[in-house]
Amino acid sequence: MRKPIFLDHHSTTPVEPAVFNAMQPWFVESYGNPHSSDHAWGWQAEAAIEEARAKVADLIGARPADVIFTSGATESNNLALFGAAEGLPANRRHVIVTATAHPCIAGVADRLEMREFEVTRLYPRADGLYALEKLADALRPETGLVSIEAAHHEIGTIQPISEIAAVLSSRGIIFHTDAAQAAGKIPLDVADIDLMSLSAHKLYGPKGIGALYVRWRPGFTVTPMFVGGGQQRGLRPGTIPTPLAVGFGEACEIAGQRMAQDGYQLAGLRDRLLSGLRAGLPDLVVNGGLESRLAHNLNVRLPGIVASDLLYELRETIAISAGSACASARIEPSPSLLALGLTEAEALSSIRIGLGRQNTQADVDIAISAIIAAYDKLIAATRVA
Ligand SMILES: *Cc1c(COP(=O)(O)O)cnc(C)c1O
Repeated sequence: MRKPIFLDHHSTTPVEPAVFNAMQPWFVESYGNPHSSDHAWGWQAEAAIEEARAKVADLIGARPADVIFTSGATESNNLALFGAAEGLPANRRHVIVTATAHPCIAGVADRLEMREFEVTRLYPRADGLYALEKLADALRPETGLVSIEAAHHEIGTIQPISEIAAVLSSRGIIFHTDAAQAAGKIPLDVADIDLMSLSAHKLYGPKGIGALYVRWRPGFTVTPMFVGGGQQRGLRPGTIPTPLAVGFGEACEIAGQRMAQDGYQLAGLRDRLLSGLRAGLPDLVVNGGLESRLAHNLNVRLPGIVASDLLYELRETIAISAGSACASARIEPSPSLLALGLTEAEALSSIRIGLGRQNTQADVDIAISAIIAAYDKLIAATRVA
């Protein structure tokens, strides 16, 4: 069986060949521990890691010393939120997250709430954006920490994080942003941002590595999750995986160079996909606004069907995902789509398509006809039944 065309680039991306090549020598040939300070094997690995750290920092306008390598955005988000929350004084223990946050952030917020923190979950406008006024209304004198995703993992909404950061910074509130979907896709600058999470495998780098940017300033502490040998300012001890770090650095450098070109090309493919689908599926509705949105994202609902049935029909042709998560065999509607105001049935009829660098017009055309054919088949089956 031919593999279905991969159109699920929000879940992960392929490793760019140049990234893979850059990683290879660091597995078998140059395997020194980057934290060995007594010999050339260690120095060589350390130099490679610091070069990679500088490339990651460069993509987000940070100083290399402020970038901490982690195992991925899940760990970065946990470290950022648990770590920053722990350092908040007793009178600043109000935390704001969004109702559309990635499950790892929603999970941390639930845990903080079980401890001595108060948590507000902010709801977006129907287009997916968080209005600054609504955020300002939610702020209290006790607010110590706010987390808002830079670009959304399901509907691709790009938030005005620089404006949000400026408002929060002027009030001394710590601002964290999960930029796993945004980094390498849109320009980012950490000015005024205290904490930013990144993941290599969302930007054509390897799985298993990410970073947390930390803006060090007086009175701001991030408590480590692990205790160990003191690496990376003690914030994230443990041996840094040299091949993964080198690959992450390379992927960031390439993403920086290709960002404009990729964005232009993917926006063209996405527009072709949407108009093709609209032509064959007049009932289709786009979830979230189209204006402030990642170029490679499309999330639509197809009234009258259940997305998981559609994905099953499409399994041999294209790989896309449903606007839902499987929680122990029961299919749950996406909390993010519900937060946008969709009904359960609408959320369950939604699909997410994430285009990538390697996708072509031909891929998009196959996807259009396959989705329309599968939809028509499912609708015909409901009429008979
Ligand atoms: C993928 C993703 C994560 C998790 O990243 P990992 O590196 O796989 O742990 C977190 N947040 C967002 C927005 C993501 O898209």
